[in-house]
Amino acid sequence: MTLSVNPIADIIAPLPKGLLIDGAFVPALSGKTFKTFNPATGEVLAEVAEGDAADIDLAVAAARRAFAGPWSRFTPFQRQHCLLRFADLVEKHFDTLALIDVLDMGAPITAMQARRQRAIGLPRFYAGMCTVIAGGTLPNSLPGEVFTYTLKEPVGVVGAITPWNAPLTSTLWKMGPVLATGCTMVLKPAEDAPLTALRLGELLLEAGVPAGVVNIVPGFGATAGDALARHRDVDKVAFTGSDLTGRKIVEASKTNLKRVTLELGGKSPDIIFADCDLEAAVAGAAMGVFANSGQICVAGTRLLVERPIYEEFVARVSAYAGALKVGNGLDPATQIGPIVNARQLERITSYMEIGLGEGVTAAAGGKRLTEGALKDGYFFEPTVLSGVTNAMRIAQEEIFGPVAAAIPFDTPEEAAALANDSPFGLGGGVWTTNLSTAHRMAKAIRAGTVWVNTYGGLDPVVPFGGYKASGYGRESGTEHLDAYLETKSVVMKLA
Ligand code: NAD
Repeated sequence: MTLSVNPIADIIAPLPKGLLIDGAFVPALSGKTFKTFNPATGEVLAEVAEGDAADIDLAVAAARRAFAGPWSRFTPFQRQHCLLRFADLVEKHFDTLALIDVLDMGAPITAMQARRQRAIGLPRFYAGMCTVIAGGTLPNSLPGEVFTYTLKEPVGVVGAITPWNAPLTSTLWKMGPVLATGCTMVLKPAEDAPLTALRLGELLLEAGVPAGVVNIVPGFGATAGDALARHRDVDKVAFTGSDLTGRKIVEASKTNLKRVTLELGGKSPDIIFADCDLEAAVAGAAMGVFANSGQICVAGTRLLVERPIYEEFVARVSAYAGALKVGNGLDPATQIGPIVNARQLERITSYMEIGLGEGVTAAAGGKRLTEGALKDGYFFEPTVLSGVTNAMRIAQEEIFGPVAAAIPFDTPEEAAALANDSPFGLGGGVWTTNLSTAHRMAKAIRAGTVWVNTYGGLDPVVPFGGYKASGYGRESGTEHLDAYLETKSVVMKLA
């Protein structure tokens, strides 16, 4: 390990550990706290205030007051100024923010450094959006002289609920549209990795965002999360997480028929044609599934490989997997960090048993790593399963670990049919040097994003979201703001 930081003293100790409500970090009303762990070592990192329904009530009330208060009189340029200052602070403190993610959820430091541009780019993109929100004038077919126009108004108080797999960028992704549109928010970060969000809350205050505009209530899903999704004074919920929880959110949102957007899971196909650039495809498809230890919603977990190159591709991707350096994310040599917690590790291990029971072969990996320094952490080998058919559970269900399932196909039509034979539709990949094949497959795959000869890159400018059980609504791009805006039509008789 070459980084000269003392993780607890230098990075974790100075962080706020309370709930951010109305501009101040406070203990939970119940006085309860919960522990957050370093998944690379199993050690306790910090004790964080544990919010529940009573704290959510306070946070929502603060967000409501802020929505009606001075924030509502901020001009688009003033909101933009706040977001740009915030982006500058994210840039200034990026190295520390990245290390919080490394410690709290296990991401490798090199992978975090590669997210620098995205982290800083998100608030800058939403800053740009502040001044382009506009209604329009409409032609009139009503009798008489009538002038009709639309106003775009912020939807109100937003409840945001995030997962643990990319705390820094997923929190910034949720904050951007709220601030750009003039909404206010209560954020419930994931209980496995709440620290980055709290630090970002501190930076928002420093950037001049008024008290109460962004409130942050760490806590558990069944208590704090459910109370937020159910709350009658929340106008919209923006949820990112599993499809199982997404269904609960929709159920809870019925109290006041609040708006809901859902960014859920996937079982994305990555289709490798025999005419591809094999070296690029092996590396791209491998990191498309193993990056972040497979804990990425768009992970290309189903490798659909054209039969003539199936054996060779499986051998090469297995060799690639076997050569990846698994370890503590603080080590700059680490390519694959730990799994976030023991429960998730157990889930991956049980899917291995299911797969082997269904008759597949582990061409690479397949088990927990416990040697030496890895013994107390939650490490799992990058794994390639061969002999998989698409009907198997390991090809249909989201594992959320570093596990690739390789499935052969014979024709483009069969590849498309296999790709779409999934309850999910979040992402998909195509590796080919044939332009027609690339375009045809891009059209045929029923998913929110298709990557061609690359995999998994996200851009704040490019809409992102799911088809089918991967959710609804789009984040990023101009469409993102639609979910945070109401359209009011004004019809005015002039004479
Ligand atoms: P999860 O659904 O278990 O938890 C996500 C969040 O929901 C957490 O903050 C949790 O506390 C909260 N929650 C849990 N139960 C709740 C309830 N009943 N009411 C309200 N909130 C509740 O998911 P996870 O394990 O944290 O994350 C992994 C999942 O997230 C995977 O399925 C992954 O594909 C998905 N994900 C999707 C995207 C995307 O953009 N589509 C991005 C990242 C992760």
